[in-house]
Order: sequence, then structure tokens, then C-alpha cells
Amino acid sequence: VPEPRLRVAIVGQGPKGTFALERLLDHSTALEASEAVVVDLFEPHHAPGAGPVYDPAQPEYLRMNFPAARIDMWVDSSEVVPASQRLPFTAWAREMGQRVEQDSYPSRALVGRYLSDGHEAIRRHSPSHIEVQLRCARVDSVDRAGASWVVWAGGRRRDYDEVLIATGHETRSADSLEASWNHAVPLVASVFPASGLSSGVIKPGSTLAVRGFGLSFIDAVLALTEGRGGSFEQTEHPYRLRYLPSSDEPARILPFSRTGRPMLPKPSAGIGVPGEEMARIAATGRARVLGLSAGFSFTDDLLGAIADTAAQAFMLTRTDASERGGLSAASRRVRGLLEGASRGVEQIVGIDPVEEIENGLAVGAGLRAPDLQWAVGGSWRALYPALVERLGGHGLRDDDWPSFHSLARQVERLAFGPAPLNAAKLLALIAAGRVVLRHVVGGRLTSADGRTWLASDSGTCEVDLVLDAVLPNPGAEGNGGLLGQLVEDGYARVAPGRRGLEVRPDGGCIGGDGTHSRGLSAVGRPTEDWVIGNDTLDRSLHSLADRWAERVIERCRQDGPVIEQEAASTAVGV
Ligand SMILES: Cc1cc2nc3c(=O)[nH]c(=O)nc-3n(C[C@H](O)[C@H](O)[C@H](O)COP(=O)(O)OP(=O)(O)OC[C@H]3O[C@@H](n4cnc5c(N)ncnc54)[C@H](O)[C@@H]3O)c2cc1C
Repeated sequence: VPEPRLRVAIVGQGPKGTFALERLLDHSTALEASEAVVVDLFEPHHAPGAGPVYDPAQPEYLRMNFPAARIDMWVDSSEVVPASQRLPFTAWAREMGQRVEQDSYPSRALVGRYLSDGHEAIRRHSPSHIEVQLRCARVDSVDRAGASWVVWAGGRRRDYDEVLIATGHETRSADSLEASWNHAVPLVASVFPASGLSSGVIKPGSTLAVRGFGLSFIDAVLALTEGRGGSFEQTEHPYRLRYLPSSDEPARILPFSRTGRPMLPKPSAGIGVPGEEMARIAATGRARVLGLSAGFSFTDDLLGAIADTAAQAFMLTRTDASERGGLSAASRRVRGLLEGASRGVEQIVGIDPVEEIENGLAVGAGLRAPDLQWAVGGSWRALYPALVERLGGHGLRDDDWPSFHSLARQVERLAFGPAPLNAAKLLALIAAGRVVLRHVVGGRLTSADGRTWLASDSGTCEVDLVLDAVLPNPGAEGNGGLLGQLVEDGYARVAPGRRGLEVRPDGGCIGGDGTHSRGLSAVGRPTEDWVIGNDTLDRSLHSLADRWAERVIERCRQDGPVIEQEAASTAVGV
């Protein structure tokens, strides 16, 4: 390999870091064979490409929350890996001898094997003038030194021209229970890795309080039941299951959260809604969001577009002639719901969470008529690509961000919920008395005399230990890690009202002084809010990594031998 023209570091080789590597290698085909690039990949996890979220070693009952048909780690135009090896997930699984139905929700472990395989294929096929090295270390800090960036990892210093931060999910948060734990009983600080919820830590027969009632809560209860030898049995009913416990499980699992509202299961594909009409409504809604003029009104224009889309979807499912004329009434109802949600007022209250999950499953299975919640969740999913494109960056006024956060929190509960199978398992665990919802609304912990209770308006219950099933928020604030350091040192900044780093469309970080930090970039969750919707495997939503790769390769072609140039400029004191 000739002397490198450019030295690149990618920090994090979860899915997004791997996708960025693939983009970089694909664009590097524009380079001459003499234009060498060194690419170092920093990743402490044992399965690069997959990372902790898709760890191939995790139990099979931890499932994706989107169907197999939508999983594809490749972009069509890519030239790095031969087409015969760039298979979508279900075709790859078939080659591995596993039959995965397109509309099933596969295990994250299997998806992790797919991502790891893809990561290896990308490295195996990297062009000869690109030297890719995997460095199995966590990056502690990134600092500027002249025109280069210094990466510290595992006690070693290395210098680069370009550093891409793709560190994904934070492991710490200022809002975590761990940050201010002062109760008598032990705290288990995180659901992941699920191997940490072993019977040595959470004892059989114990009473466990769990903060959070979302997707991580479901993963936790499955680890503590199915993962301890319990099993689920089909019944005569289309989706209801029966739980058969083991003797190795906690006696009672008590979730508690602010609102106690569950995440609604995803509907099945064919629930009797005319697909073509639905696609037309969604396309019209997306065009309306994308066409919002500069200075649009959050309430009238944005919420109006979402409400009209949801109302049209809802009316499509009505067969009753008297309801058919009710489009404007439906739109007003949805609009009221969205407005309340964006003011932070909980919109769906007083419904038993069990009934809400049951209803979601029945609607999703085509056994009950779709309702407004179904329409709002489905419309949010359908409009999401347009929301990501139109509202990211400077798309939303700074003072509209609190409203958007409040809205997203409530609507995403309807849109981005669990696989129907996991929702059915949760219902079975509630029916079996393993999961107890008595304190799920507004439960709080109190301690006295070396004992701890979970208390709510429904009374109190003594608990033996507590598990935190709320994932750390995205962003730089309070996680004490690399992102915090970059902001503190002025290499990156967070825009008002947002949580993640402010970046250019090519991922370039904006420094504390408002100028571009040349050579420092970020993709994925570290940019959350400035870029919307990073928590997905879907590669079609964002073009940052592609634009980053294109710019880096262009820099390589234009700058000439960077290291020599820099050495020369240092020598003359420039
Ligand atoms: C429990 C869970 C379940 C999910 N399920 C789904 C799902 O079903 N479908 C879906 O589309 N999305 C799901 N997501 C969303 C998820 O964000 C994305 O699918 C995807 O993992 C994002 O990839 P990423 O590379 O940005 O982040 P991550 O997957 O978090 O990967 C980041 C990588 O960076 C590494 N890293 C972190 N810090 C450093 C450092 N300082 N130095 C070096 N390396 C570092 C980590 O080890 C990790 O490998 C889920 C998320 C979670 C937490």
C-alpha cells in the first residue's frame, strides 16, 4: 500500500458505522490505485457490524420491532461487495438454512448474524488501496492537534485527518435511576445485556419493580420468564397465549411509569384496508409535509397535515354509510388529540392498559374495526420519511421543539410498538399474574428502615429490588462520555431545544463558535433531533453517511498527500 493520502477513523462499528464504512469504500472506487487511504475502525464489542443491540449471542426471544421484509443492509448502487453477496435479510437467512417469513419479526440475534456477516464481507472486499483495520477498543476522547484529530483509545494515541462518530446508544444518562440511587434495595441499572438479569442477580421468588413500560420492559420480562424456562402455549384464540411458568422466576414483576400507557403492537400486513388507497393517502400526506413553506405554523400546517392523513386513513376503514361523510369530524378529533399531545397533556387516559393492548392486537389481527389510534400510528409511520426530511436541521423553529418532543412521545407509542407476538406474550404474563399492573400509572419508590416500597394511588407494595428499563436519552448532555467531551471542548455543539450534535448535511460537526469543525463528523443517534429518527436499521431515511463518504473521498482527491502537506506547513510555521 502506498503512503496514505488520508487517514480516517470511524468510532463505533454498530450498524451505522458499518453502513458508513460501506459508503466510504464504495465512493473510494473513484480514487486512483496510488491514492491510498487508511481507515481505522474502533469498536470494543465482540461482534462488529451488529454491536450490542444486535448481539448475535443474545437470546432468540429478543425480537425486532419491524418485520423481516424491511431488513436490508445494502444499497442497490453499491459496488464494493459483489451483488451475489448483498442479500436482503430474508434471502440471506434462506442461504443460512433458516426460513424467515417476510411479515415475521425475527430475533435480533439472527439479524446480528446478518449484520456481522455483511460487515466481514465489506472488509473482505475493500479495494487494495484502502487499508481497513479493526481496532478492538473504546475511544475515550478525540482532540484537535493542528489540522489533525487525535484519537485516544486503550491508552494509545493515533492521528487522523477525518474522524466519524457513530457511537449509537449511550450507556449512561443523567436521568437514570443509577445517577441518583438512594433506596434501600439493590438496583439493576440496565436491561441490557439481558444476560445481566440472571437468577444470581434477580432471585427466583423475588418481587421486582421495573421502571418503564416500553419495549425494553417487554425484553426484560421475557428474559425473566421465557429466559428462565417458562414457555408460551397457543390457545384456540387467534392471538391469545397461555403462560406456563418455571420455578426459577421472580414471583411478581411490577412495572411503573409516568403515564402507564402501553406501546401498541404493530398491525399485521393484511387487515382488510385497501392498500392502493392507503398508499395514495400516505403519498399525498408526505407531499404536504415536504411542501410546508418556510415559517409554517406548527399547529395549523404540520398538525393539520398529520390529522388529515390520519382521518382519511380512518375513514377508509369505515363501511357504515353514515360515518363515511364524517371526514372533517374525524380530522377535528385527530387534530384535537395531536394538539393536546404536543402541549404535553396525556390524550388517552382512563383506559385499562390491558384493554388497550388487547384492542391493538384485535385491530392488528383484523378482528375489530381499525380505530383512530390505529390511524394515527399508521399515519405517523407513513409520514415519517417526510417528517425526517422536512423537520430536521433548521426545518423546525427552535421554539417548536418542545411541542414536537411531546407530540412524538405520545404518537410513537402508537406507531413504533412491539411485534404482535411480544404484545400477546405480555398479555399472557399479565393473565398469569407474573406481571402486575397495579402501580403502572405514576408508581414511585419510597424507602424507610432498610426496606423499599412501590407506591401509587392504588396502594403500596414492598419490593426486593428495582430494575431500570428506561434507555438513556440520546444526546451529549449528562452522559459524561465522548459526546460530552466534544461539546465541552468546543469541537461540536447542540442547537437550542435539541439533544444531539448539530451537523451539516454531510455529517460535519458545527463547533461551539458556529464554524465547521473540519474533519470531525457524526452520524446516527449522537445527532438526534438535528437529524430525526436515527434509531432504525432503515438505510433509506438518511443520506448523511453517503454525503460524508463522498466528501471524504473528494477531499482525498483534491488535497493531495495530506500528511506531507501538513508536515510542510508545520515546518514553515503556518
Ligand atoms: C434494545 C433495542 C432494540 C432495538 N430494536 C430495533 C428494531 O427492532 N428495529 C430497528 O430498526 N431499530 C431498533 N433499535 C434502534 C437502533 O438504534 C438501531 O437499529 C441501530 O442499532 C442503530 O445503529 P447505530 O450503529 O447507530 O448504534 P448502535 O447499535 O448503538 O451501535 C453503536 C456502536 O458504537 C460502539 N461504541 C459506542 N461508544 C464507542 C466508543 N466510545 N468507542 C468505540 N466504539 C463505541 C458500540 O459498542 C456499538 O457497537 C433498537 C434499539 C435498542 C436499544
